[in-house]
Amino acid sequence: MLKIEHLGIAVKDLSKSNALFEKLFGAAPYKLEKVESEGVSTSFFMMGESKIELLEATNPDSPIAKFIEKKGEGIHHIAFEVKDIYIEMKRLQNEGFTLLSEHPKKGADNKLICFLHPKGTNGVLIELCQEIG
Ligand code: ZN
Repeated sequence: MLKIEHLGIAVKDLSKSNALFEKLFGAAPYKLEKVESEGVSTSFFMMGESKIELLEATNPDSPIAKFIEKKGEGIHHIAFEVKDIYIEMKRLQNEGFTLLSEHPKKGADNKLICFLHPKGTNGVLIELCQEIG
C-alpha cells in the first residue's frame, strides 16, 4: 500500500456538511459526485496530499444509511492507495482477509475500489483504491 489516499466520513446532509467542512478547512470541495451503484453522494476536499471524502446516502438501503443508523455520523472508512488493486486484492485474500467484492468496482473520484470486511480488520472499514489511468 502506498499511502492513505483519503478518509471517508458518513454524513446525514451533504450540503450542510459541505458548508461546515468548507468553514473548517477554509476551502470548498473540489469535486461533487454521485455514485449511484454504491448508493452515495460524495464530496471531496483536498489538503496538501490528503483528501477527505464526505458520503451521504442516496437511498435507505445504502451502506451509508445503515452505517449512520447503527453508529451515527462519523469516520466511515480509511482508503489506501495501491499500485495494482488486482495484485493487492489477491495478496490480502491469501492473507485471510475478506473482500467485500470479488472484483474491483468503479468508485468516486476516478478510482477502482474494493473494501475489506471490517470484522477482519479490528472494526475498521478499509478501502483499497487505484487511480484509473
Ligand atoms: Zn472512499
